[in-house]
Amino acid sequence: MNGSTPPTGAALYSLKAKRVWVAGHGGMVGSALVRRLQSENYEVLTVARQTLDLRDQAGTLAWMRKEKPQAVFLAAAKVGGIAANDTLPAEFLFDNLALETNIIDAARQSGVEKLLFLGSSCIYPKHAAQPISEDALLTGALEETNQWYAVAKIAGLKLAQAYRRQFACDFISAMPTNLYGPNDNFDLAASHVMPALIRKAHEAKVQGRNELIVWGTGTPKREFLHVDDCADALVHLMTHYSAEQHVNIGAGEDIAIATLAELIAAIVGFTGRVVFDTTKPDGTPRKLLDSSKLRALGWSPRIGLRDGIVSAYRWFLENRAAE
Ligand code: GDP
Repeated sequence: MNGSTPPTGAALYSLKAKRVWVAGHGGMVGSALVRRLQSENYEVLTVARQTLDLRDQAGTLAWMRKEKPQAVFLAAAKVGGIAANDTLPAEFLFDNLALETNIIDAARQSGVEKLLFLGSSCIYPKHAAQPISEDALLTGALEETNQWYAVAKIAGLKLAQAYRRQFACDFISAMPTNLYGPNDNFDLAASHVMPALIRKAHEAKVQGRNELIVWGTGTPKREFLHVDDCADALVHLMTHYSAEQHVNIGAGEDIAIATLAELIAAIVGFTGRVVFDTTKPDGTPRKLLDSSKLRALGWSPRIGLRDGIVSAYRWFLENRAAE
């Protein structure tokens, strides 16, 4: 009843001729999904934030009943980096809980055939064994700085599982690692490390400053995946996976923040010094996902870190550098 996935990675569900709703299409993952789906001419539904506030339960149900999506990528979320999470805990917890419960329940009521809920690697315990397998969920305490977001995402994943068990809904969940690419948030107060360092290195270069300030000690390690690779993996899971357990989406290797800063500096052309501001938090020491389950389903990433940063920097120059 819960469905199972053949080990061969055979296709289980087709998006062809389906109405596919990307909830959160304006975000980095949502917009990558729209690009990916439109490249194959799938029928993509989106709804503007001004038209529908996903925290509004009745409004969300009414919209879904009217538009009748058959497949849903739940990529809508309130997101942000270490500083934003720490300063807006109520919003991170409430907004995420509200929109995911609204969409998941409305999906059942409106007869959605398949739904993919998107989590994030911060749902895992702070000191999880590396690389982090799907089984590590709820085996230890969360990282304090992003616990609000993490608790909401764990609730969403459990809700998808519960609807699968109780109502036989074909709802699945995926947990991507740290993502970067077009439509990332380059606002330094709310951004994650990758866009923050791209902006800082660029601004230091053009302003002729000789220091690039990196938060924390530079020793934490993070794994980074280009969002176009992530979108490709999400479509792969939607079409090739049907089971209760969530699936990690990662690149397979991680990098120390200090090394990342040097790499970004080299790509941007910043030639000064990298300086560490240790008054800022480090967060989780390491966060590398075990993505062997996804690999066994026949998917692996295509965009290497250097090429990915080169294209992310190009996107920043064309779209955000002037802001
Ligand atoms: P996290 O993965 O949830 O911890 O979120 P971030 O991407 O915000 O931070 C990852 C790591 O990069 C942490 O150790 C930060 O302290 C470090 N870091 C270094 N410089 C920056 C910066 O300018 N902005 C952010 N957000 N993180 C930075």
